[in-house]
Amino acid sequence: PAEPSSALLDGLNPRQREAVLYRGPALLIVAGAGSGKTSVLTRRIASLLETREAWPSQILAITFTNKAAGEMRERVRHMVGHASDGMWISTFHSACVRILRREAEVFGYASGFTIYDSGDSRALLKRLVKQYEADVMGLGVANVAARISKLKNELVDAETFSRSVNLSDPKEALFLTIFREYSRALQAANAFDFDDLIAQTVYLFRAFPHVAEPYRRRFRHILVDEYQDTNHAQYALIRELTKPAEGIPAASLTVVGDSDQSIYAFRGADIRNIIEFEQDYPEATVVLLEQNYRSTQTILDAANAVIANNFDRKPKNLFTAGGAGAKIVGFTGYSGHDEAQFVADEIEQLHRGGMEYRDIAVFYRTNAQTRALEEILIRSAVPYRILGGTKFYERAEIKDAMAYLIAVANPADALAMRRILNTPKRGIGQVTETQLANLAERNGITFREALRHAADLGVGPKVAKAITGLSDLLDEATAMTAPPAEDAAPIPVFDVLSLLMQKSGYVDALRASRDPQDEARLENIEELLAVTKEFQRNNPDGLLIDFLTETALVAAADELDDSSGTVSLMTLHTAKGLEFKAVFLTGIEEDLLPHRMSANEPGGPSEERRLFYVGITRAKERLYLSLAMTRNSYGETSVSAPSRFLAEIPAELIDWRQSPGMTGPGAGSRAAGSLSWSGGVGSGPAAQKPKTEWTNRVTGKVRDNGDLELAIGDRVRHDDFGEGRVQAITGTAAKRIAEVQFDTAGRKRLLVKVAPIVKL
Ligand code: ATP
Ligand code: MG
Repeated sequence: PAEPSSALLDGLNPRQREAVLYRGPALLIVAGAGSGKTSVLTRRIASLLETREAWPSQILAITFTNKAAGEMRERVRHMVGHASDGMWISTFHSACVRILRREAEVFGYASGFTIYDSGDSRALLKRLVKQYEADVMGLGVANVAARISKLKNELVDAETFSRSVNLSDPKEALFLTIFREYSRALQAANAFDFDDLIAQTVYLFRAFPHVAEPYRRRFRHILVDEYQDTNHAQYALIRELTKPAEGIPAASLTVVGDSDQSIYAFRGADIRNIIEFEQDYPEATVVLLEQNYRSTQTILDAANAVIANNFDRKPKNLFTAGGAGAKIVGFTGYSGHDEAQFVADEIEQLHRGGMEYRDIAVFYRTNAQTRALEEILIRSAVPYRILGGTKFYERAEIKDAMAYLIAVANPADALAMRRILNTPKRGIGQVTETQLANLAERNGITFREALRHAADLGVGPKVAKAITGLSDLLDEATAMTAPPAEDAAPIPVFDVLSLLMQKSGYVDALRASRDPQDEARLENIEELLAVTKEFQRNNPDGLLIDFLTETALVAAADELDDSSGTVSLMTLHTAKGLEFKAVFLTGIEEDLLPHRMSANEPGGPSEERRLFYVGITRAKERLYLSLAMTRNSYGETSVSAPSRFLAEIPAELIDWRQSPGMTGPGAGSRAAGSLSWSGGVGSGPAAQKPKTEWTNRVTGKVRDNGDLELAIGDRVRHDDFGEGRVQAITGTAAKRIAEVQFDTAGRKRLLVKVAPIVKL
């Protein structure tokens, strides 16, 4: 084959180059964080295309998030131009949805199937658990959901499970019943849950080789990033795709990974997949990358020191040619608020020093930690966005609107139908809902069809009218979504959603409400309408079903939008594969990291350490580690202890600071190795800490300064920063921001609405 152009190989080290140029059946790239694994994968694709060894359609690349897929596609396009169109670069889930949409009819699903996210699955399981009173047997919803997910990731379906289960154990027997009913309900709704997407594709390929054959022929080059986090089902899928098709050899497989970054064992990820790769693919070539191109040596030294405490690994040391860089900054706060204030202040300082907000990230172990952070960031007018957490698509009003669309696209989806039946309130009660469900069941029709028979239910004329009204509305919307005649453009999803939201009375109900939250809900609906507009711009021929597919797959990290200048907040799990100039790791305390749940699981603490390692290695230039001596949760204050992981970092790498009000031995020792709260909480800090009531403890609401009249030149007093003068005012209403030059605390940006300030 032709040599790829030198531009493609530019700057690569010899081993990266070898990996890009390798041509053969199987390649394993194992390397530490930031050593260019993802970059090499990207260049490999570009080089295959550039030399015309492969058509774009012959390439399947699997990434961890849709966001990462988008980035990789962009980079390849940048290197080889539009020769890259038609590649499949996607997550496991998206690739499987694409396959299932085309092929699922072979095994009895309609191509308009619904994808249940974890909230949907739980709603369904909740009903079953209640119906069988399973929680008295110790089978709670969360427990059942986790177990079913795990089994599906092991490719064990309800029938397979029934063959191994001990039926004389009543708990096991009941679990089997629920697992079965759950699977049946999904099938009846023409729906797949997230785990099904992969497991069912594997079943499909195994049961119908003629369906798998064209994919084996088509994909000549399969590349998988973050291979250490594949679970058994994903592994099996790759196995299926890399079997030889008739008359042609198996596809060439490239996988890259780092066993030190395996953080998904709880989801069934199997580190053995990477360790045993050489056995599964005996002809495999292994390339090791060692040099790190992301972080300073200080950051790498910390990462190396921490991960060295895991015994179940091959020794490996990250190094860079880039120099030591700044020291790590450690901070010990008295409370979670102190910690958050530190984070906000440092962010402002970095920003003033010229760093963009988008180059800064704050990580935490659990979503619950965001509340204090958010409060302070809002107050300091630091623009931020949360990845994961209560995601846009998990909000109730968005789920309502989506349920309307799903009810239109997939008439079999009873869950969606039940959700919208009396939303907004139209007087259709629980009894009527059950009657409709029974009617559907008895006659073997869908829930939606049952609406047409409202007259047979024996309900009052008002209720019957409401049901018929909904039924007619859905019919009207369905007619709009029919595939368009040739040459015609489809009716935009925007129009369909507008119709549904208007005619159903949903929007009117929110407008009429006096609940201030409903105003925000209305804004969210408008945001969703904007999303449909954008979708149509990017996909002029996109149908409703395409829109639903796209939105169902938006994973946590996908909300990250580089173009926006915001600080990114996310859990450590979401941070994988990403990089930022400055990273704040918060809550580095026992019970948070390692998380208290991990103590009971085999390998739990090691996995938590890998999570910490992943966090550290995201940082390019600046790393901050912070913790709080006390935390409030559920209205109670508890005392926390420094994470054992902190003591694993050589003390000379960290420059420790502490809350201004803190003194005494326990208040943040200078040496990480001796960190402990020997001082105790009762003595000292509590009394010295200036009290700041930002929130009304009774209502939990933040103070509202919305109406405060402020002009440039006004003097103000801030609870924490003291007195200062207003220098500039931007934005209006809830988004009004004042820049204040404080006499001693420096210049700060404050969100007027919530800032604890008074005009003097
Ligand atoms: P992770 O394990 O965190 O996923 P990775 O191994 O995939 O990391 P990349 O994200 O590919 O690493 O690369 C890390 C950084 O190093 C990126 O900013 C990338 O552009 C840069 N980089 C990679 N290789 C080189 C090189 N040869 N010269 C200069 N920079 C490089
Ligand atoms: Mg990577």
